[in-house]
Amino acid sequence: MRRWSEVAERISATTRTSEKTRLLAAYLGSVEPAALAPATVFFTARAFAEADARPLGVGWAMLADSVSRVARVTRAELGAAYDRHSDLGRAVGDVLAAREDVAPGGPAPRDAASAPGPVPGSPPTVPGSPPTVPEVAAAFAAIESARGPAAKAAVFEALLARCDPLSATYVVKILGGELRIGLREGLVEAAIAAAFGRPAPDVARAVMLTGDVGEAAILARDDRLGSARLGLFHPLRFMLASPAEDAAEIVARLGPVVWTEDKYDGIRAQLHRRGDEARLFSRDLHDVSAQFPEVVAAARDLAWDGILDGELLALRDGGVLPFLALQKRLGRKAPPPALLAEVPVAFVAFDVLAVGPRGGDVVPLLDLPLRERRARLEALRITATAPGRFALSRLATAGSAADLERIFAEARARRNEGLMVKDPGSAYSPGRRGFGWLKMKKALATLDCVVVGVEVGHGKRHGVLSDYTFAVRDEATGTLVTIGKAYSGLTDAEIAERTRWFEAHTISRHGRYRVVEPAVVVEVAFDVIMRSARHASGFALRFPRIARLRDDKAATEVDTLETVARLWRELQHGAEHLVTQEAARSLPAG
Ligand code: AMP
Repeated sequence: MRRWSEVAERISATTRTSEKTRLLAAYLGSVEPAALAPATVFFTARAFAEADARPLGVGWAMLADSVSRVARVTRAELGAAYDRHSDLGRAVGDVLAAREDVAPGGPAPRDAASAPGPVPGSPPTVPGSPPTVPEVAAAFAAIESARGPAAKAAVFEALLARCDPLSATYVVKILGGELRIGLREGLVEAAIAAAFGRPAPDVARAVMLTGDVGEAAILARDDRLGSARLGLFHPLRFMLASPAEDAAEIVARLGPVVWTEDKYDGIRAQLHRRGDEARLFSRDLHDVSAQFPEVVAAARDLAWDGILDGELLALRDGGVLPFLALQKRLGRKAPPPALLAEVPVAFVAFDVLAVGPRGGDVVPLLDLPLRERRARLEALRITATAPGRFALSRLATAGSAADLERIFAEARARRNEGLMVKDPGSAYSPGRRGFGWLKMKKALATLDCVVVGVEVGHGKRHGVLSDYTFAVRDEATGTLVTIGKAYSGLTDAEIAERTRWFEAHTISRHGRYRVVEPAVVVEVAFDVIMRSARHASGFALRFPRIARLRDDKAATEVDTLETVARLWRELQHGAEHLVTQEAARSLPAG
């Protein structure tokens, strides 16, 4: 792991992507066979391959407690190190390095009394020797399979105690899901291609189908990329949409004839089914089947195997319930029968990504144009098999900007969020935000931000952490930069629940203000974006308000500083655009 970490440091030290790729390719080409797969996966900031959805079950608080114990520092000292870097991995490296200065020869030995005994399933270790990449991978697997926080912490601490400060830094960064060395996943794929002299698109395709860069690296090494197969029950990345500027520009870009679908305000989901098994995956690629048992049960009756892309909506008596109703179902691992009756959920399909006869071979359809995928989707007759539980997105065609404005207004009148405009000739590009799909919604986009600090409120919110400081992501530096502070517009119950969470995930305290683990994503509405020196982003929002929690989004998915700057520029020049959109917005809502 030491060599891996040194390579990561060198990759971090250069800003040139060609040099990053070269360094990584040289490493992958020379690493011992057993380390190739895990080493490659670790470079995507994952403990396990993307297709392997096993949750490790280690939270920030556990990591911080364990680090404090192994390095023998207080949480406050660790918090101070975190403040220097805004990066738990670097903080861990710091406190361990300081420890080594005191006790040369490695981190302080653990007390015999508190040292964990051998953990079943943990990797065979040579005491005192630094862990290899396969040993770290085995330790991650052992953390996952250990039952309960104490057992998980014990495996993690045993791993950490063997790590030098640099390896510990990167072990923690991998567990935290962010390396911050300026290495996009595309560069990892490019490095695999360069390391083994294979075409980059072949590597990318194998990664997409298998959901496993480690396996793709092995296939590339062994010259077997062509044998990569689409596996069911590991989610493909979702195709994303770009925000649309205005109707005329959309038609100019995608026209002359574009497809539109209503943009439903629900939860994106991918449905996989084969034989008697069906599973639903969320946009952040988690298995959410248990949360939507009625949809999963209905999907078992479908007469084919394959993968659908769509949106989960709360639907009762043929009418869509407001997002607030659906929200009651989110985060409920196993919804009680009363809630299932109160807020029934349906799946509105808008795409088919793979299909085959029951029990037969499933063929990927991603490269077919949307026009053909839609025809295949309609031929599956899902609405006939499971009416009420399955529906198809509402499709229309538009040949002019005026058509688009009209359909947009109609979609709003149907109480949908806006329109998705799709190029009927476009392929399905997993994980890409291209121009095949454009989203047309409210004029002033809200921003998805991550809460980085909280304070107790005033008045009746005196005892709870209800004031949130939130940040967007600066892609140039990989850091989170604050952009505003708002009193939470959430309900008392939601605030109470979050208060407990923030208390358990406080990193450091500064008087009333707590720096918290950046994990809670909120959608923030505002009136205007202004230039401001008050926040690290250099921007501030006027009248910010928390529109809703975005539990479906991870902190890595929040809006970027670049988007903020673009919105700011548009607001300087975009009065005309706002008028058009305002007119659409003020139409009766149904
Ligand atoms: P946003 O969350 O604002 O980035 O908008 C993109 C999201 O709109 C997708 O991830 C889907 O969850 C949702 N959506 C709603 N209706 C559709 C549709 N007909 N086609 C594609 N995406 C849709």
